[in-house]
Amino acid sequence: MWGNTDHLPAMLVHFHRAGEKIAVIWPNTNVVANTPDLQSALAQNFPQSVVGLGQIVATDDKTGAVVFDASSLLSDILDLNNILKGSLDPGASYRLDSSRTYFGQTKAFPRNIVIEADQTWATEAAHVQAADVAPDARSLQMRIIYNFAEPPGNSDYRPRYADDRIGLYDAIYLQYNNDQARERQLRYFIRLNIQPSDPSKALSPAKRPVVYYLSKTIPPQYRAAVRDGIVGWNRAFERIGISNAIEVKDQPADPNWDADDIRYNVIRWVTEAQASFGADSQTLYDPRTGEEFRSGVLVSANIPAGAARGWKIFIDPARYGRDTDPMPQSFVHDAFVSTLLHETGHNLGMQHNFIGSMAYSAKQLQSKAFTSTYGISSTVMEYAPTNLWPRQYPQGDFNQTVLGPYDYFTIKYGYATIPGTQTPEAELPTLRRWASAWSNPYYRYASDEDVSWANGHASDPRVNQGDLTNDPLAWCGVQLKMNHELLSTVNRRLPKDGSAYEELTAAFSSILRSYTNCASLPSRFIGGQYVSRAHRGDTHAESPIVPVPRSQELRAFRMLDQYLFSDSAWQFSPRLLQGLGYSEWAGYGYVSWPGYGNLPLWAYNPPERHDYPVMQNIARAQARVIDQFFNPLVLQRIDENPLESTKSTMSIDDLFTWLQTSIYGDINSHTRSISLVKRNLQTMYADKLAALVSSPTRGTPSDAQALARHELTTLRQSIGTALRSGSADAITRAHLENLRQHATLKP
Ligand SMILES: [Zn+2]
Repeated sequence: MWGNTDHLPAMLVHFHRAGEKIAVIWPNTNVVANTPDLQSALAQNFPQSVVGLGQIVATDDKTGAVVFDASSLLSDILDLNNILKGSLDPGASYRLDSSRTYFGQTKAFPRNIVIEADQTWATEAAHVQAADVAPDARSLQMRIIYNFAEPPGNSDYRPRYADDRIGLYDAIYLQYNNDQARERQLRYFIRLNIQPSDPSKALSPAKRPVVYYLSKTIPPQYRAAVRDGIVGWNRAFERIGISNAIEVKDQPADPNWDADDIRYNVIRWVTEAQASFGADSQTLYDPRTGEEFRSGVLVSANIPAGAARGWKIFIDPARYGRDTDPMPQSFVHDAFVSTLLHETGHNLGMQHNFIGSMAYSAKQLQSKAFTSTYGISSTVMEYAPTNLWPRQYPQGDFNQTVLGPYDYFTIKYGYATIPGTQTPEAELPTLRRWASAWSNPYYRYASDEDVSWANGHASDPRVNQGDLTNDPLAWCGVQLKMNHELLSTVNRRLPKDGSAYEELTAAFSSILRSYTNCASLPSRFIGGQYVSRAHRGDTHAESPIVPVPRSQELRAFRMLDQYLFSDSAWQFSPRLLQGLGYSEWAGYGYVSWPGYGNLPLWAYNPPERHDYPVMQNIARAQARVIDQFFNPLVLQRIDENPLESTKSTMSIDDLFTWLQTSIYGDINSHTRSISLVKRNLQTMYADKLAALVSSPTRGTPSDAQALARHELTTLRQSIGTALRSGSADAITRAHLENLRQHATLKP
């Protein structure tokens, strides 16, 4: 939980008199119609929501104005009950304690009033993860700020239609204007009201520039970088004829200036006990039109520390072979610029775009001339990793510090004036023509739903967070070798003389995480499908679904075989492993060990083991990939891809054969000694095959069950042959006997 300022979207509020009471109502803004008769039909058919009811306690005889009891604002209107349940330890079970809840400060500004409800959320549980920054974790004070503002909106605002090929947020309505429409959904793009003051000129200043105030809490040494990131977007507006679209000012020295005044867009500095985010965008829009009327960014105080860690652990040793060099200040500057470009992009209505890294080649990313003009991905809305190449390669910019072609393209879609149009409908032909460019790699867009790899929904291996280049497999190959080298040499550099060994352990763990990310990424090509958002007839449009060709799937599997499943991927020297200790002061996480009192998570949290659980980390990474393959949606895709492919794509039989060879190959070759990594993997995989046969998840294709049963039979036979050959050492023999049990299906 961090200082999120907007827990709810802006809602319209009606005050309705019901006898001697006033009802505070949220009218239904989700349904729209264009005639009064249809509107009353909607009012009869769709509910509104009542937020609270308060007794009238006084009436002004002259004006009729009433004073009513607003105690309902002390109740859980924000639904913190579920927010806390979702973000904290489930055992914590916080409840709103009304006996410790009261009204705080109220403030009045020209366009809004602020009412603060200071709620106490209480629990009986003494040790609550992530809530122990309070002096007593059983009692959390949550200061809820209600903003009552006059309805926003400028009369010159014209809503703009959204398009499924363009990555802009949208306000979605059910519209009843046309009975024969196939689709009742009406979608308006959520955007700021940025227009040129003189559309007849090639370039004119913004009629209403967006002004951001940098909170005075932002440390002076980072303010220029924060500012540079925000105003970086002005270049996109200049290209569509608007200058000075975004301004950044310092918070005025005036003591009466208040960030709660709704007229101000504020960039805030957030401090946390544990780093949980880099920055976050805050936007409020008019629910009737999609017009944004307030936005801001929360910037985490952890950004400089994150940059310093990245420099020390990865960049310095990989590029310069050193560890001792001070990080250049430009690196921290660029980290802020890159973060602020991204968050300001959200403020402008831009969604994430996780296919953006596919736009450029490795050669381009290795050129500073290229990256300083076009960035390291087509968009700042990617989650691009550091663009880092080992010493033998040339090196472009580490961070994305400029807008990419997709950013210019999308701002044009969202904000460019379309001459000769007076209504949103009149803009549609032009907008649709612009949006038809989806198949151009510079303008392609795929968002959050397209990276739901964990639940099997995501299927396009081009859409990832944390990868780079138009050949992510080749890029990962380079990164894996680099990380392997970093892992095997990290103990020569760390810890520094006089430092505790946890410095080494933390670095090892970061590099290992980076390694396993790339070692697992190829799994997404297996049974993958390239997904196109292009409409029929768009330039260079592909079919919506094109299965990944078998040659790519095989290439990806060979990487998994080499970097994830093989024994040679996980060789570490005893000297390195024995250095992975921790200091008793290390880390985060809540424990209360008997005799140690009640220290909070940020103060004391030793891991269970004194040494580093390398085997467990390896096993987890391997299991994650196998679980992904055995997800019913992925198995269905692999089973059915051959039907949807005009070329060759892998069969479900390939999947089981490849895994069997990779994981059990050394049983067939009668290896004398099977390594610990391999023994663990073999047992785990046998269990997963057995589960696929005996308790398949709903939706598992019967082909998968049949093949799993077949592989277990083959495995038992190979084990029998290997044991009879008598060449195995004692632990390998015991392992094989045990593995045979795991491979035997219970009747
Ligand atoms: Zn984001």
